[in-house]
Amino acid sequence: MRFPTKTANNREHEELMDITQKNVKDCYQCMKCSAGCPLTEYMDYYPHQIMLRAKMGLYDQVFNSKTLWVCASCMACSSRCPRDLEPAKIMEGFRAMLLRERDQGKVEILDTKGVPRQALIASMRKFRR
Ligand code: SF4
Ligand code: SF4
Repeated sequence: MRFPTKTANNREHEELMDITQKNVKDCYQCMKCSAGCPLTEYMDYYPHQIMLRAKMGLYDQVFNSKTLWVCASCMACSSRCPRDLEPAKIMEGFRAMLLRERDQGKVEILDTKGVPRQALIASMRKFRR
């Protein structure tokens, strides 16, 4: 009898590793990323909470979080992470995964009212084709 060795979460985890060359499972939840992030007041999950959800395989919560689009790629979190996980790069990896899905018509574009200008400009750079 064969047992499945890959779950949907494993696939997402591997895709994220392919894109970022980082393993979210190495995060030890020190919260330094969130402490240095200038945009947490606009986020539904703080950066370390995004990392925890990914680590636990809760990718639906990650992909439905507005945090990914509020993140302005300022790299403050990456400069603080003691595990060299580069959370900014991981956020970018999640966005890349979502955009791949969007190209297959599966992602809704969110209402951008109330999103900080810096985050909007960062997102426009990423959406530009
Ligand atoms: S700074 Fe790094 S190790 Fe600490 S919670 Fe954030 S991602 Fe995890
Ligand atoms: S890169 Fe994104 S998550 Fe990291 S500190 Fe800047 S805004 Fe926050």
